[in-house]
Amino acid sequence: MPETTRETVLRISGTNTRKCMLCGKCSGSCPAYDAMDYRPHQFVAMVERGEIAPLLQSKSLYACMSCFACVERCPRGVQPASLIEALRAMVLREREHTRLPAQLIPELIDAGTPQQAVVSAFRKLSK
Ligand code: SF4
Ligand code: SF4
Repeated sequence: MPETTRETVLRISGTNTRKCMLCGKCSGSCPAYDAMDYRPHQFVAMVERGEIAPLLQSKSLYACMSCFACVERCPRGVQPASLIEALRAMVLREREHTRLPAQLIPELIDAGTPQQAVVSAFRKLSK
């Protein structure tokens, strides 16, 4: 049976949204709260309900600063930041022209390119 979009988000993020008790601490500690249309606790709840399409269009994807305050504050070990990162990756992977085949990497880097940047780009831009 093919994976649902919700299952894909959960797999990429490694997050268990069922553990969320909607306490809101993640959103309360988020420095990007005012810039978000869906706040971190809403992200978690919407992924749990399988409401992925609006999240893929959300400006919250690009307002999140990946500071991981939401992860630190969560009393249940949920990782809202990882969900947001997973959705960002899914948006990038849907754009065919942003795919990065492994064989192109040597042409794009020089000796000064940090390996972390290469690995990060490869994770984001390849399936
Ligand atoms: S802090 Fe954790 S448990 Fe509370 S709403 Fe956010 S994700 Fe859910
Ligand atoms: S990682 Fe993103 S969602 Fe989480 S607190 Fe920081 S800015 Fe907010």
